[in-house]
Amino acid sequence: MNNQLIIDLQMISEEGILVIDDSYGTDYTDLIIGICPVLEPVHYHVEIQRNYQDYFVQGHVKTKVVHPCTRCLRPVPLEIIGQVEVVLLSSDHEPKEEEVELKTLENVVYYRGLEFDLLPYIQEAILLGVPNIVLCRQDCAGLCGFCGQDLNQQPDHECADMKKMPDERFLVLEKLKRKFDKEEIDPAVRKNKTIQ
Ligand SMILES: [Zn+2]
Ligand SMILES: [Zn+2]
Repeated sequence: MNNQLIIDLQMISEEGILVIDDSYGTDYTDLIIGICPVLEPVHYHVEIQRNYQDYFVQGHVKTKVVHPCTRCLRPVPLEIIGQVEVVLLSSDHEPKEEEVELKTLENVVYYRGLEFDLLPYIQEAILLGVPNIVLCRQDCAGLCGFCGQDLNQQPDHECADMKKMPDERFLVLEKLKRKFDKEEIDPAVRKNKTIQ
């Protein structure tokens, strides 16, 4: 298995553009994210524009991954479209020790030699393409916070574990949950009374 996507920068003339439109199979995917197996080959379309010693890499990545639902942890297939954007500057311009904070500039890479590995940036684009909240369905009920029961399967779950807990905070949560779930509290009362 090849863990790199090496681009030969010499292929690009001094003010030229290299367009790469390709895909790689799912055999690369263990590399990406442990919790996100990739379901489909990763397609990438990248343009590398050279300006003398500098290169601007820009493009997008498309694939499908599996990510756990944020609420119930069920695996959810996700279509991912990620953006790739990297600036390659010659290591001749690399900041010295005392200017080291410049190095943290996002998406700026100081390259050495005449080759550039595109793979880490494609993987990063996929990672950044995963939304912060992934839901198996819009109204996913999630898991019971006490025993982990999937509330999609047992919507009427009343947790025995919760009743064992003497901690007042949990009782507040229970009350709140009942209030929202069943509208038990008279709206007039709810308005004037805070839950204790
Ligand atoms: Zn879910
Ligand atoms: Zn429970």
